[in-house]
Amino acid sequence: MPTIFSKIVSGEIPADIVHQDDLITAFRDVSPAAPTHILIVPNQEITGVDDLDDGQAEVAGRMFLVARDLARKEGIAEGGYRLIINSGPHGGQEVMHLHMHLIGGRPLGPMLSKA
Ligand code: 5GP
Repeated sequence: MPTIFSKIVSGEIPADIVHQDDLITAFRDVSPAAPTHILIVPNQEITGVDDLDDGQAEVAGRMFLVARDLARKEGIAEGGYRLIINSGPHGGQEVMHLHMHLIGGRPLGPMLSKA
């Protein structure tokens, strides 16, 4: 079964796509947590960080470079932003297709509550 993000990558279901290349697709989160909230995903279905192979360094690195470029395009690079990759149940990962959240456009507060 393809993931919902695979269906977005292939165009089967709609999304506000802001970047697509041979390795990566980026689109706006359907439920944004901040003025800019973009998901950066490998076109290839990789379940999560723990499923990355050593041979996938290019796609992993490209995710960061796309995040950098989109942050500049969105006008949030100077003010700063947060990149989040949730992994597994304790990490709060809901969609089992590796993705990086690019979040910014307002002060984001502390990274985690320490309760
Ligand atoms: P996770 O909790 O797995 O790190 O984040 C999954 C993210 O995917 C959530 O922020 C959620 O709002 C977003 N999301 C889930 N389904 C869809 C969808 O169909 N379209 C888009 N654009 N975002 C989605």
